[in-house]
Amino acid sequence: MMQPETSAMARPNDSSETTFLHQLESEIGQRNFDHWFRDKVRLEHDGELLSIGVGSPFLLSWMQKHFRQPVADVAQKVFGATSRVRFQVDARISLHSSPEIAKPVNETRTRVAATPAHFVDGRGRRFADLSDFVKGACNELPFTAAKQVCDSPGAKFNPLFLYGGVGLGKTHLLEGIYRQLRRRYPALHVMFLTSEAFTNYFTEALRQRTLPSFRQRFRNVDAILVDDVDFLNAKRVIQEEFLHTFKQLESHGKQIVVTADRHPRLLSKLSEELTSRFLSGLVCRIEAPDAETRQRIVERRSARMDAVITADALTFVAQRFCNNVRELEGALNCLETYYQMTRKRIGVTVARRILADLERDCIRVIHISDVEQVVCSFFGVSASELKSSRRHRSVSRPRMLAMFLARKLTQAPYSEIGQYFGGRNHSTVMSAQHTVQRWMADGSPIQFASQTWPLNELLETLEQQLQAG
Ligand code: ADP
Ligand code: MG
Repeated sequence: MMQPETSAMARPNDSSETTFLHQLESEIGQRNFDHWFRDKVRLEHDGELLSIGVGSPFLLSWMQKHFRQPVADVAQKVFGATSRVRFQVDARISLHSSPEIAKPVNETRTRVAATPAHFVDGRGRRFADLSDFVKGACNELPFTAAKQVCDSPGAKFNPLFLYGGVGLGKTHLLEGIYRQLRRRYPALHVMFLTSEAFTNYFTEALRQRTLPSFRQRFRNVDAILVDDVDFLNAKRVIQEEFLHTFKQLESHGKQIVVTADRHPRLLSKLSEELTSRFLSGLVCRIEAPDAETRQRIVERRSARMDAVITADALTFVAQRFCNNVRELEGALNCLETYYQMTRKRIGVTVARRILADLERDCIRVIHISDVEQVVCSFFGVSASELKSSRRHRSVSRPRMLAMFLARKLTQAPYSEIGQYFGGRNHSTVMSAQHTVQRWMADGSPIQFASQTWPLNELLETLEQQLQAG
């Protein structure tokens, strides 16, 4: 019998692994084997456990779904009745360079050090470009503002505060501003960092008693771009330091751009001073992509992919994955992976089948307890207070919102929601719902505890948090 080529994947001299692969091939057929296993997985056999490393999370669920049984059967035949099989994502497998799989790779992640000149995000990620940002009705204002900042940094829209839910392109815009500023004004000192990195540098400086040099770093910056400032919420000491930096740059007319997952007013644990500084420039919301923008994003990205996907399959993706751009990209990546494995053109039927699991996962099931948790942590009330009979506004209004959201986002009937929130009856829930609807229609800000909130923004933020899980 011919020696199977598949030995490339097994460790040299490990004949039982070779036997395993060989038998698997006859079990599932050569085509399936070529598409999904040959040079594409990484085997590790340790005692009773056979680990099968695959290249991506998508492949993981695909392989488990389609091959778990035959793989387990063959493993038992080859390695013994008690052997077990585990599929796992193996970061060492690159779909583009399959020969790597055969080699034992001792990978140490390359880290790009943060330099005082311009921070990068520590993972050495390439920055996105503004020219790759697809414009549409959903992001026109933030995009225009970003361009404006690049045209004349520090002059207008300062600070620029970009906010919106996860995966909508905030980081992309911020990175785009960074690249554009660097390109157009090489002499300017532009700094890009996440607020988490700011926090880490600051904490480190405190620990090593190097605060003066930490502050010095920001002194001659011409523009600072800070991603995800929501991270600073509830971190008072860091906020103070950030405010200090902010004021200093502001007083010299330096450009400041920040991003966050919500409107500054909804960063409830931010100091009043920082909030009002954020509000003093342009606050700009980036919305979930509309259908037309999604279609264009999908077309543009697929044009650059190593995959043949039909136009109607692309339209299917654009229509089906509508929450954010990251989700769209995830779906396209799955199709690309599939194509790279099979080299078969992907039409709408195949796309639908490949993405079925992903589609299901995108529709998150929300439970009443999720609503309770998000509302409690947002307003700083405890679950037992929410369920109590207290009627004080600081508790009763969050409770009403919780009931409203539970009704809107879960399948639960009024009676069950009432029961959940402290054994109340269905008419209490209905009246809470009506009250919140009246507030929404009214449009005026609503007082909760000591704070006043723009209600529509507030509801959207809470909903986003729930959808994001
Ligand atoms: P956020 O920071 O808001 O969570 P990101 O900026 O990380 O989102 O965007 C998620 C992904 O979607 C990135 O790969 C980004 O390049 C892409 N993306 C988002 N919006 C757009 C857009 N309008 N055009 C092209 N790509 C986009
Ligand atoms: Mg981001």
